[in-house]
Amino acid sequence: MDLGIRGKWALVCGASKGLGLGCAQALVQEGVNVLIVARGAEQLEASAAKLRAVDAGSTGASVLFCAQDITTEAGRAAVFAMRRDFDIVVTNAGGPPPGDFRDWDREAWIRAVDANMLTPIELIKATVDSMAARGFGRIVNITSSSVKAPIDILGLSNGARSGLTGFVAGVARSSVAAQGVTINNLLPGVFDTDRIKTTMQATAQRTGQPVEALVAARRQAIPARRFGTPQEFGAICAFLCSVQAGYINGQNVLADGGAYPGTY
Ligand code: NAD
Repeated sequence: MDLGIRGKWALVCGASKGLGLGCAQALVQEGVNVLIVARGAEQLEASAAKLRAVDAGSTGASVLFCAQDITTEAGRAAVFAMRRDFDIVVTNAGGPPPGDFRDWDREAWIRAVDANMLTPIELIKATVDSMAARGFGRIVNITSSSVKAPIDILGLSNGARSGLTGFVAGVARSSVAAQGVTINNLLPGVFDTDRIKTTMQATAQRTGQPVEALVAARRQAIPARRFGTPQEFGAICAFLCSVQAGYINGQNVLADGGAYPGTY
């Protein structure tokens, strides 16, 4: 299916690896020009080179990169200095650390809210009106299945991302909806990325259990009996950015291999 977005410009955050990179790959394969952002310059540059060489293929899509911390004002200013008008924005940054809420002070909460709530809101604020003025826009926020089914040790994520979800529910239905702009959240369950590997290794160290046993148990708890791949996550993101998805707005799209146990 031709998604009808060839030649559009996308800002994809947290895109040197993992889910963000999966989204950038899928968009580039559709002929979308991308500006990818992550903090580490070396890995980001390598990912940009791969996107150009492998994924852009015959589409001729442009790939720019900007090594910045997207959760800071200076980082966002540097990104928007490179390019201002985006047709597509994928918001994403590292998730907050796991832990016990009794140990989190105000600073820990401010960091989580800054990264996983206020940063996407700032990115929406910076781009949505120009999208509306041009009559087309797609914003996809990478959040988490923890918004629908909270995970006890991820209280910072449960809280901060729920705040974003509430905000998005309102702004997606504001006047921009009639001007061709959609804003949706894409909720990953368990995907095979470095973040999951790191989390599993930390749990193995804490509990003394072998990491292979933990991974197997985690897989077993998912009806699909496997973790998702960044490629399949990216494909869902690209579809949400498509012309065909213009009537999907203000939704929380869960991709979790059936792990969420509810009927609705
Ligand atoms: P990852 O660690 O594999 O990749 C994260 C990417 O974001 C990297 O490119 C990193 O450089 C970049 N990044 C991190 N902080 C940044 C910042 N401040 N500014 C710019 N770039 C930054 O992680 P992932 O698994 O792809 O996860 C992406 C998001 O999805 C995270 O917020 C994570 O909590 C959430 N999530 C992931 C899963 C999963 O199973 N992988 C599940 C639920 C939620």
